[in-house]
Amino acid sequence: MVVSDITKVQAIEGFMRLCADGWEQGWHERNGGNLTYRMTKDDVEACRPFFYNPRPWVKMEVKAENLAGEYFITTGSGKYFRNVALHPHHNIGIVEINEEGDSWRIVWGLINGAQPTSEFPTHFMNHSVRKAATDGANRVIYHCHATNIIAMTYVVPLTNKAFTKALWQSATECPVVFPEGVGVVPWMVPGGHDIALATSELMKTFQAAVWAQHGLFVSGPDYDTAFGLAHTIEKSADVYCKVMATGHPVLQTITDDNLKAIAKEFGVTLNQDMFD
Ligand SMILES: [Zn+2]
Repeated sequence: MVVSDITKVQAIEGFMRLCADGWEQGWHERNGGNLTYRMTKDDVEACRPFFYNPRPWVKMEVKAENLAGEYFITTGSGKYFRNVALHPHHNIGIVEINEEGDSWRIVWGLINGAQPTSEFPTHFMNHSVRKAATDGANRVIYHCHATNIIAMTYVVPLTNKAFTKALWQSATECPVVFPEGVGVVPWMVPGGHDIALATSELMKTFQAAVWAQHGLFVSGPDYDTAFGLAHTIEKSADVYCKVMATGHPVLQTITDDNLKAIAKEFGVTLNQDMFD
């Protein structure tokens, strides 16, 4: 479909909607959070009429051969999710990846010298891992400051197992939505190579990683699935925190047998590492 405005291209429209939804959830105070989407060939062709002369190539510290020649939509560094819908050209952009898979250049948006999110190398490494892990199906990487999941990182041991069990037991839908569980990254300096590497190791197994005292990092094949995953995890974390806040002892929960019954009924395989 030929459109007169790039914001009417489905991939851009969905990107902007996710930013607005995340803002409305209260997960993107100030310039918190970031989002990237690996475009399809059709997405690129639909957006190409709006591309301008590309800005210079910028080399990254990371490299991913399976992302050579890809295009990504990305939020901008220091930009606010709440402003995306108002001024998309300023706050988001499209970058092209070079043939070596180690550099990007801006071909649309991020005007007035703006740059892709400072977490772009982290997203890039995780796109590489998720693309490989899902046979190319994964396209979205989303990071948000989901309040209750952050709160949990102060009181739940920072292990994949402890977090997965706490979340699975706090909302019945959870084992169906993320049967592999969630990964947990200990507190690390954001934006750097170390957190990118630690997260991408986990993302070989998990669709989602919890960043201690920081937020949530999720992936998905499309905007709805990725956002839905973050929303489901955060909802479960909300229940967990509310239960803890009552100060009452937990009288009953979803047992291991219950979890296995859910898995059987819904045809999913639960990660056995999460059981004793
Ligand atoms: Zn963050």
